[in-house]
Amino acid sequence: MDLDLSQEHELLRNTVREFATERVAPVAEELDRESRFPYELVAEMAELGLMGIPIPEEYGGAGSDTLAYAIAIEELTRIDSSVAITVAAHTSLGTMPILLFGNDEQKGEWLPQLASGEKLAAFGLTEADAGSDAGATRTRAEQRDGQWIVNGSKIFITNAGTDISACVTITALTAEDEVSNLIVPNGTDGYTISPPMHKLGWHASDTRELSFKDVAVPEGNLLGERGRGFVQFLEILDGGRISVAAMGVGLAQGAYDLAYAYAQERKQFGKPISSFQAVQFKLADMATEIEAGRALVYRAAWLKDQGRPFALAAAQAKLYTGELSNRVVNASLQMHGGYGFMEESAIARLYRDQKVLEIGEGTNEVQRMVIAKHLGL
Ligand SMILES: Cc1cc2nc3c(=O)[nH]c(=O)nc-3n(C[C@H](O)[C@H](O)[C@H](O)COP(=O)(O)OP(=O)(O)OC[C@H]3O[C@@H](n4cnc5c(N)ncnc54)[C@H](O)[C@@H]3O)c2cc1C
Repeated sequence: MDLDLSQEHELLRNTVREFATERVAPVAEELDRESRFPYELVAEMAELGLMGIPIPEEYGGAGSDTLAYAIAIEELTRIDSSVAITVAAHTSLGTMPILLFGNDEQKGEWLPQLASGEKLAAFGLTEADAGSDAGATRTRAEQRDGQWIVNGSKIFITNAGTDISACVTITALTAEDEVSNLIVPNGTDGYTISPPMHKLGWHASDTRELSFKDVAVPEGNLLGERGRGFVQFLEILDGGRISVAAMGVGLAQGAYDLAYAYAQERKQFGKPISSFQAVQFKLADMATEIEAGRALVYRAAWLKDQGRPFALAAAQAKLYTGELSNRVVNASLQMHGGYGFMEESAIARLYRDQKVLEIGEGTNEVQRMVIAKHLGL
């Protein structure tokens, strides 16, 4: 058993850490305050090869593994969740369905522009009445004159409405009880995208409602096998959970870093608050739990990279790090006192950004349902 990261993984961690510290940290508060999508940072990340880390080089990706991808997402989230989710949703949810289920023509058309980060892709599963029960899709696609005619809507969709969004892959009913996936290019007539939704956190990330009114897409935009759309998307979510779990570790690490620094700088009763054992114990608990969470995430990524079953490990990592990040960010803000409650403090942003890690890509309850199923219950 070897728990050391390879030189390549260490190098990637250092590169992303430097980028996050030097390029993201100085603008994160402003992007959040102005709810401004980070176009410049996405372009820089594209240059660094971060927009297609696990996508093969033949399609313009970095050709790296899931562990590398998880490390990158962890390092980005340590500084800013909006930037991290932009990369994670684009990679795991936007690009992966086309890589895993696309035919040669679809891969050739879409992957080079997506893996290079020139364009973004979105994943449209959730609907107003189909959230945790994602199979309850109502959006329909009817085959007519060599085309699919799509009618319906999606909600809470990440990366669908930016200036560089290329397409969304969706689930749609192609017959009674038959769900299939379709690629809907941005700009198709009848496909309308709402203004950005107002959120508690992830302010600089793009979240939209999508509406499809007699949207005609070519028959060739069917992604994967007809009728396999729900199963395919569940497989995508299994992989996506590793990146959201990496976000949980990264956010917790970022919150810990802030608490650690503040506890040494802030003096009360004539001493730094870090000299009080109650504060030291909180930091000790945080550091311990973060290591446990990171181990779960790396194990899930490792299993996936070995080609072994990883869905249980991914759900466990996502559940644990979601709740871990909640505990850590809460304890960190507490340690910041009143200053932590002020919007200009970084910990306030991390606090707002944390909650969705327990909701997106399956709520904590859904993770427990997935885990219980794997346990044979
Ligand atoms: C910022 C953001 C970005 C998102 N991005 C995307 C995206 O890009 N693409 C996409 O498709 N979706 C996206 N989502 C949607 C997300 O995946 C859903 O919000 C999530 O799956 C939960 O669905 P819901 O919001 O409808 O909640 P509901 O399913 O209505 O759940 C409400 C509550 O009921 C609980 N619950 C439901 N069923 C059960 C049960 N059987 N047992 C116990 N408890 C249960 C839930 O755990 C939750 O606590 C995003 C959401 C957010 C907030």
